[in-house]
Amino acid sequence: MLTSICGVNWGDEGKGKMVDLLSEDYDIVCRYQGGNNAGHTVINERGKFILNLLPSGILRENVVNVLGAGMVIDIRHLHEEIARLEAAGVSVTPENLKISDKAVITMPYHILLDCLEEDRLADKKFGSTRRGIAPVYADKYMKKAFRMGELLHPDLLYARAKDILEWKNLTLTGVYKHAPVSMEEVIEYFETYGAPLKDYICDTGLLLHEAAKAGKKIMFEAQLGALRDIDYGIYPYTSSSTTIAAYAPIGAGVPHLKLDKSIGIMKAYSTCVGEGPFTAEYFGEKAEELRKAGGEYGAATGRPRRVGPFDVVASSYGIRCQGADEVALTKLDILSIYDEIEVCVAYELDGKIIHEFPYPDLLEKCKPVMRKFKGWHCDISQCRKREELPAEALAYIDFIEKACDCNITYVAVGAERDACIRMK
Ligand code: GDP
Repeated sequence: MLTSICGVNWGDEGKGKMVDLLSEDYDIVCRYQGGNNAGHTVINERGKFILNLLPSGILRENVVNVLGAGMVIDIRHLHEEIARLEAAGVSVTPENLKISDKAVITMPYHILLDCLEEDRLADKKFGSTRRGIAPVYADKYMKKAFRMGELLHPDLLYARAKDILEWKNLTLTGVYKHAPVSMEEVIEYFETYGAPLKDYICDTGLLLHEAAKAGKKIMFEAQLGALRDIDYGIYPYTSSSTTIAAYAPIGAGVPHLKLDKSIGIMKAYSTCVGEGPFTAEYFGEKAEELRKAGGEYGAATGRPRRVGPFDVVASSYGIRCQGADEVALTKLDILSIYDEIEVCVAYELDGKIIHEFPYPDLLEKCKPVMRKFKGWHCDISQCRKREELPAEALAYIDFIEKACDCNITYVAVGAERDACIRMK
């Protein structure tokens, strides 16, 4: 059984919470793209955790967690994340964490280049998390990146590092007029943060292949959402990796296997971190009210998130991109603040009403077409069954399900693990 858990929107949909909840029935949870630009928040009986690199299954005993081949791994960050979890009593060992030998290593100079480029762009910046993600993926495709497997062969690694550094320093010194990076710094980085990971590194493709053959249940956990996908998102304001469910078997290391189920995680309203078009955006007090109610501040960066009403046009497109057989609608409880709830049901583009998500460059010209729904205006965070939800909440869910032509099987009404309603 292969299931993917992916974001339908711009990210921060609550994937971490849903993976934490649903992973109970799974043997393996695998991250397959992105890096520590992710910030998955999980609250359960063991405490509150923000996971950047580790799959959310790490909080469950008996679940094996995999960092797949499509990922970029900042080994210093991983070292710190493991230490944080261990301090909180969660053990991370080579038994419950497996790192793909083909995953790429994020180097300190990738972070440096990310910052130098964002600073150079100034008011035209992309809104990068400044964690080196775009530079490291760029190097991957330039075939000048280091992979985790190389840590197992230091002689070969250092010979290659010399050539790569020579090339990288041309950019650092020539383009950005920055001091060059020395070979000593690179070796120290590998030895301090890479060497202790040796026992975790393996061919995770083989591991997943054998697990699938043995009938084990595997869950793929995505980072960000469909609208930040490098190909199908709001390019260039996207992440640098593929956030789409169909990529999960590839990024995980089992390109020959097909997904059995895709679960799309979709927020009951819209949020977005960073730059780029965001058609139904709220501003001023209206935005602050929703941001505050939803606690919409980035888990990875602490940045205030941009907010708006649920967007049928963008979400329908996201559901299609994710091939979502099922949808979990999250944070419905946050809408309890409203007497009337707005939903963006269409866009107006050059005087025409459109229902399909347009070519991203045209989004700047799109205006939201809003429709209002009666709110329920009461606390729903304790509801655990469909029947306990107020009629107005059910009507809101029903409208979204029909408007987006999707199958809402879960509704989340709180951050805690059990604050979730199985709808069907
Ligand atoms: P992810 O990156 O998709 O995992 O999402 P984030 O962790 O960045 O953001 C989701 C935030 O909402 C986290 O703080 C979660 O604890 C919280 N959360 C998730 N689902 C719900 C929900 O249904 N209601 C409320 N109130 N909070 C939720």
